[in-house]
Amino acid sequence: MILEIRAVPPFMKNGFVLGCETTREGVLIDPGDDVDLLLAAVDQHSLEIGAILLTHAHLDHVTGVAAATRALEAPVWLHKADNVLYEAVVQQGLMFGLKVEPQPPVDHFYEEGHPLRFGRYEITVFHTPGHCPGGVCLAVNGDSRTDAPTELRTLIVGDTLFEGSIGRTDLPGGDLETLLRSIREVLFRFPDDSPVYSGHGAVTTIGRERRSNPFLR
Ligand SMILES: [Zn+2]
Ligand SMILES: [Zn+2]
Repeated sequence: MILEIRAVPPFMKNGFVLGCETTREGVLIDPGDDVDLLLAAVDQHSLEIGAILLTHAHLDHVTGVAAATRALEAPVWLHKADNVLYEAVVQQGLMFGLKVEPQPPVDHFYEEGHPLRFGRYEITVFHTPGHCPGGVCLAVNGDSRTDAPTELRTLIVGDTLFEGSIGRTDLPGGDLETLLRSIREVLFRFPDDSPVYSGHGAVTTIGRERRSNPFLR
């Protein structure tokens, strides 16, 4: 699987490009201020982007949606519980003293039991609230028709879980007990070797966080 990560100041939020090396189909995840770098990665790999997927609607994860839809003409996906937050992105910017442009409306809300595909990969969407009401984890599996064991269970977790830390719960709609339940009951069901790509910071694994994350003892 093609996997590119980009992050820029001030938020150093990770944006992702995932692509199928066979069909060149791909998805763009959480375009923020890094959107130009993500679009360059799309071009570099000659990918056709079929969807713009959002892990949640905090402004650092969505300020590049308008530019991404202009360039890619791909539909935007979000969990419906975060749509209020998404539509308030300009006000979110004001909270940080930032001028943010309004973003185009979401095209689709995630539906449980309806995986999204790009080439020979499949993304299952899990609702993982707590950091915000509509946070999701995108779990990418290699296609069972192919033999790609190293690509199994790649987790894109947004701001739910970080290397050695967890998402903040002091923003509107956040709740610590809900967040811990999402991590324990959704993320920790995945095997230890599952790579975890967080919304900020370094890549980790489920096993490493299960063993050593101080917030989950
Ligand atoms: Zn966030
Ligand atoms: Zn974030």
